[in-house]
Amino acid sequence: MGIVSDPAARAAETAAQEMTDGFNLVIEALKLNGISTIYGLPGIPITDLTRKAQAAGLRVLSFRHEQNAGYAASIAGFLTQKPGICLTVSAPGFLNGLNALAHATVNCFPMILISGSSEREIVDLQQGDYEEMDQLAIAKPVAKAAYRVLHAEDIGVGIARAIRAAVSGRPGGVYLDLPAKLFAQSLPADAGRQSLIQVVDPAPRQVPAPDAVKRALDLLKSAKKPLILLGKGAAYAQADANIRKLVESSGMPYLPMSMAKGLLPDTHEQCASAARSYVLPEADVVLLIGARLNWLLSHGKGKTWGGKGHKDWGGQKFVQIDISPQEADSNVRIDAPLVGDIDSCVSALLAGMNEKAGGWAKPSAEWLSAIHEKKSKNVAKMAETLAKNPTPMNFHSALNVVRDIVKANPDAMLVNEGANALDFTRSIVDMYQPRKRVDVGTWGIMGVGMGYCVAAAVETGQQVIAIEGDSAFGFSGMEVETICRYNLPVCIVIMNNNGVYKGTDVDPTGRDPAPTVFVKGARYDKIMEAFGGVGVNAGTPDELRRAMEEAIRSKKPTLINAVIDETAGTESGRITSLNPTAAKKA
Ligand code: ADP
Ligand code: MG
Repeated sequence: MGIVSDPAARAAETAAQEMTDGFNLVIEALKLNGISTIYGLPGIPITDLTRKAQAAGLRVLSFRHEQNAGYAASIAGFLTQKPGICLTVSAPGFLNGLNALAHATVNCFPMILISGSSEREIVDLQQGDYEEMDQLAIAKPVAKAAYRVLHAEDIGVGIARAIRAAVSGRPGGVYLDLPAKLFAQSLPADAGRQSLIQVVDPAPRQVPAPDAVKRALDLLKSAKKPLILLGKGAAYAQADANIRKLVESSGMPYLPMSMAKGLLPDTHEQCASAARSYVLPEADVVLLIGARLNWLLSHGKGKTWGGKGHKDWGGQKFVQIDISPQEADSNVRIDAPLVGDIDSCVSALLAGMNEKAGGWAKPSAEWLSAIHEKKSKNVAKMAETLAKNPTPMNFHSALNVVRDIVKANPDAMLVNEGANALDFTRSIVDMYQPRKRVDVGTWGIMGVGMGYCVAAAVETGQQVIAIEGDSAFGFSGMEVETICRYNLPVCIVIMNNNGVYKGTDVDPTGRDPAPTVFVKGARYDKIMEAFGGVGVNAGTPDELRRAMEEAIRSKKPTLINAVIDETAGTESGRITSLNPTAAKKA
C-alpha cells in the first residue's frame, strides 16, 4: 500500500487501471444511443467486437451470410425508427452487406452498416493487405452517408453522425468504416467517456409551412373524386392515429401500397384496393402520403392513370406529403407539395379542416358508390376463385388458408417475397394492423426473406409468417439454421411450384434443366428438420392449415413445403411488362 510518489509511476498505475479501447467505445456509444441489437457475422477484425458486445448486454444475432444480416438490420430500422445495425468483416463480408445497404437507402430505411477494414496505409498504397479494399469509396454511391473513424477518440462522433444521417430527414443506409487498428487503440477511460455523444433529437420533427398547407387544403377542397395513397413512408412514420383520423374524417377512399397495408385494416370500407384499376384513372385529386410516384405507381402517368398513351398524363392533380423536399415533380407535376414529417403534415391538414373551417367537403356520392360497386364485384369474383379446391393446390387455394390464418392472428408479422407468391399474397391476404407486412420493397428484389424473419421476430416479439416463392427462399434459405439456433417463432411457407415463375420450362436441346426450373418435388421441409425445427410437407389446403395452426400454437421454427401446381404462375408475376421479350410483344 502507501502512496506512490513517483509521478511517472503514478500515471502508469492510473492508466493501467482506467484505460478503454476502441472495442469498448463502439459498444458504449451504441448503448448510449439506445441501440440494443446487432445483426452480423463475426470474423477478422470484428470477432472480439461481437463477443464483447454480447458480454456488455447487447443482443448479437449471428447470421450465415452478411446479406441476410443486412436485410435484417434494414427492416429492424423500418420497424423501430432506430437505425438497424449490421456488422461485417472487411472486403468480402463488407461487399455481401452492401446489397442490404443499398436496399436500405433505396427503401428509406434507417440502417448502419459497420464494417471492419484493413490497414489504411497499406490499402491506400495498394500493397496487398489481407482483404484489401477501399470500402469507404465503394460504399459511398449506395449510402445516404459514409464515414470512417481513424482514432478511438472520434468513435463517439462517428457513431453520432451515422445515427443522425440514418434517421433524420429521409431515412437511409449509412456506412461506417472502422479499420482494424482502431479497435485496439487505447485511451484513458475518462477521456473515452467524454468523447461519446448521446444524440439529442436524432430525427427532428419537420413542420410544414402554413402556405404549403393552405395550398394543399385548397386543392383537396376542390376535389370531386379524391383519393389517398398511403405508402410505406406513412407506415414508417408511426402516425397511425392521425392518418386514420384524416382518412375517416375526410371520407376519402384510399389505396395502401404494399407495406402500408394494415395501416387501416384492409377490410375498411374506405379501402379501395379491390377497385384499384378503377380509382387510379378516375381520381381527380390524389393525396400521396409517404409514397413515391416510381415504377410501382407507373410513374403517375400512362394508361394506369387514365392517360391515352404510355407516358400520357391522366389529368390528376397531386398533393404530396414527403419529408424529402426533392421528391416532388420527380415524375409528374406536383401541384401542392407538402414537405415535412408525416405526422406534422397530417396534423396540419386535420387542423385546417376542423369544424370551424367547415370540415371536409365530402367526396361526391357518385364517386363513392361507383367505387363500392367495383369493389363488390371484384371481391365476389375473388371469393369464387378462393373457394375452388383444385388438385394439386394452386396459389389461390393455398393463400386462402394463409388469409384465414392472418385474419385469426392479426398481431403476426407477414414476410413476403417471390414473383407470383408475392403478387397473389399481396392481393389475397388482408392485413389488419400497421407495419405487419414487410416485403420486397422498392426494388422488388428477392433475398430479403429469412433476414426479415429474424429481425421481425426479434424486434416485435410476435409470431412471424413468411410466404416465400421457392426461388425467393433459395437466396437466404441457409438462415433457417439461424432461426432454429435462436428458436424464433417463425413459420415459413414455401410455395413450391418447382421453379422460377413456374416449373414447366424445358431445355429445347434436351441437355439440361431449363434455366427457370428446380429439382422437381423438392422437400424444403427437410432443411428445417436438419436443424431441429419442424418440417411439414403439405399437399392440400387442409394439411397447410393444420401445419400453420400448429406452428403458431407451438411457436416452434417451422417450414411448410406447400406443393403447388407447377403450371400455376405467370412469367415475372404481375410485372411481365418489364420483361424485354414480353414488352416487345405488347
Ligand atoms: P411505397 O413504395 O410504399 O409507395 P416509397 O418508399 O415509394 O413508398 O415512399 C416512401 C416515401 O416516404 C419516401 O419518399 C420518403 O421520403 C417518405 N418518408 C419516409 N419517412 C417519412 C416521414 N417520417 N415523414 C414524411 N415522409 C417520409
Ligand atoms: Mg416458384
